[in-house]
Amino acid sequence: MEDARGLLKQYFGFDDFREGQKPLIDAVLEGRDVLGIMPTGAGKSLCFQIPALMMPGITLVVSPLISLMKDQVGALNQAGIHAAFLNSSLSMGQYRKALDLAREGRYKIIYVAPERLETEGFLRFALSPGVDISFLAVDEAHCVSQWGQDFRPSYLKILSFLEKLPRRPVLGAYTATATVEVKEDVLDILNLRDPLVVTTGFDRANLFFGVKKPRDKYRELESYLREKEEKMPGSSGIVYCLSRKSVEEVCYQLREAGFSVTRYHAGLSDTERRENQDDFIYDRRQIMVATNAFGMGIDKPDVRFVIHYNMPKNMESYYQEAGRAGRDGEPAECILYFGAADQRTNRFLIEHGEDNQELDEETRRIVMGKDLERLKQMTFYCASSGCLRHYILDYFGEDSGTECQNCSNCLEEFDLSDVTEQAAAVVRCIESCHRNFGINLIVDVLRGADNQKIRQRGLEDNPEYKALAGMTVPSLKQLMNEMMMQGFLNLSNDDYPVLELTDRSEELLSGEKLVIKVPKREEKQAPKARKK
Ligand code: ADP
Repeated sequence: MEDARGLLKQYFGFDDFREGQKPLIDAVLEGRDVLGIMPTGAGKSLCFQIPALMMPGITLVVSPLISLMKDQVGALNQAGIHAAFLNSSLSMGQYRKALDLAREGRYKIIYVAPERLETEGFLRFALSPGVDISFLAVDEAHCVSQWGQDFRPSYLKILSFLEKLPRRPVLGAYTATATVEVKEDVLDILNLRDPLVVTTGFDRANLFFGVKKPRDKYRELESYLREKEEKMPGSSGIVYCLSRKSVEEVCYQLREAGFSVTRYHAGLSDTERRENQDDFIYDRRQIMVATNAFGMGIDKPDVRFVIHYNMPKNMESYYQEAGRAGRDGEPAECILYFGAADQRTNRFLIEHGEDNQELDEETRRIVMGKDLERLKQMTFYCASSGCLRHYILDYFGEDSGTECQNCSNCLEEFDLSDVTEQAAAVVRCIESCHRNFGINLIVDVLRGADNQKIRQRGLEDNPEYKALAGMTVPSLKQLMNEMMMQGFLNLSNDDYPVLELTDRSEELLSGEKLVIKVPKREEKQAPKARKK
């Protein structure tokens, strides 16, 4: 029998396995369940494709995305491996034919959408005499978890499907999400038996991480691209926007400004999407402006920068999208443009978007709560003055130790500023409001704004009215963000998010110090509290 390394070379053309691949493959071949947690681009697919070639019978790969299945099956067939996919993109006739061929043993690997598993036709196939499913690989396994960013209730069907099979296949689960909750859910819900768990490092040392808060995002982008053009002519990059509309606008403006640019979003025809994608991949266009619909299953090694024109909805999405830069291991930059509106837009999308429509009311409420919590963590990333890489790795449960010196915060010069007094004023202000208000109103009270909202609620009489009149709105919001990050304040997940005190808030009134880092160039704006 061919060995795994031989197949790696023969079918995929690679000489060596990457970190984590070999142990995950060997375990499956020995009949042991596995959980592979590896960042995007690390090469998870080979971890189930190679054992699939070596085991008797058929391998089923459960995968959530039609586009991903198509791409992977296309690539496998091109490499000379018989594979097929079964999902809603097939007509009834095509679907039946594929199942017939599968029954005849034509395919070594079958990709299947989770919804299909328990349909009558598929079960009939799976239970046919002579059909031997020896290995079931669950790709994007975080979809089983309500803690994952893409919870799919249909993933919960995997276990009951397995129970119907005459012989339980070896089970492999693969994901790029490494948070503790997700990992435990995957192990539990899929009921992996004595699995080998392999987690490869999430750090991508060649990537520079940056956060900017430009007044004018477009101008910032244009000058960044000009500089790139000058210093590294011809380098490729992706600009991610939150909406199709902004993709259109940014792409149009860049084209007018003379850049080699194309675009991608779900509103374009299949043909145009394919063409634009190819233009980017084959370097006919340098810049791809896209929504998050772009990128899954695309492997362009030499993407030199990924700019997020808007903050994405969570760290998982951010790291996955940013991680498309620098797959070749050469230096690349991942820069996020943060604007206050980004948080509102994301909130709106979480509350009203299509993502969770298929869920029942109760589950939707739970999922939405978790989505809002993740949005908060994403916002903290943008507000953080600490090492950004440290923040990312910490989020994914990895201890990163010291500062990286390769992110905008590590390179920025900061002064330490003791803001205990100001933070205490915030706490007292919220306390004396006797009911909860949102950030903007509390900012207005502290700065002593004279507007209708303040007057209507009699907030001029709040003892902290004007207490922080000397601070700018952004620096006051930054202070509140810092307080939230350090657990002195909380922003509720209600329809109208309100500021709440926490168990720790009182500490600021009784001696606990709050020191924040203020960028040196903002020194002049260092906050001042009014003496009482
Ligand atoms: P993931 O699913 O983890 O995001 P993929 O399976 O799509 O990653 O692999 C990412 C890229 O890495 C693919 O282009 C794949 O061909 C390549 N790759 C995977 N394993 C190896 C290897 N051992 N050597 C070189 N390239 C590899």
